Amino acid sequence: MPLMTPTVQVRGMRPELVLAIIAISQTLGDDADQWYITSVTDGRHMRGSLHYVGAAIDIGPGPAARRTDYATIRDDTLARLTTEYQIILEHHADDTLSHLHIEYQPQRPLNSSAGDAPS
Ligand SMILES: [Zn+2]
Repeated sequence: MPLMTPTVQVRGMRPELVLAIIAISQTLGDDADQWYITSVTDGRHMRGSLHYVGAAIDIGPGPAARRTDYATIRDDTLARLTTEYQIILEHHADDTLSHLHIEYQPQRPLNSSAGDAPS
């Protein structure tokens, strides 16, 4: 399981993101405890960012992380989740990985399913 940096604010995080944390933990395997949750509802993000509504989380590799196959980590994690999750690789100016931005964006309201007849 990724660790949390001490200043991370988790208050207001959508519970659906717990499933994303479980999924990336399974993907990272033995490397999971070398990764850190660096932001949930704290920090500065783009205007309109899902961080501000508790629907995004940033997870990045710590100095002792061994895995660097970030696209594979992204793809394998997404394969464990529904299509309502997205993972974006965020890079530093020098092109090294900063973190994985994971967001949950439901595609339809809670009580609707595709194909249901109106009632
Ligand atoms: Zn983010």
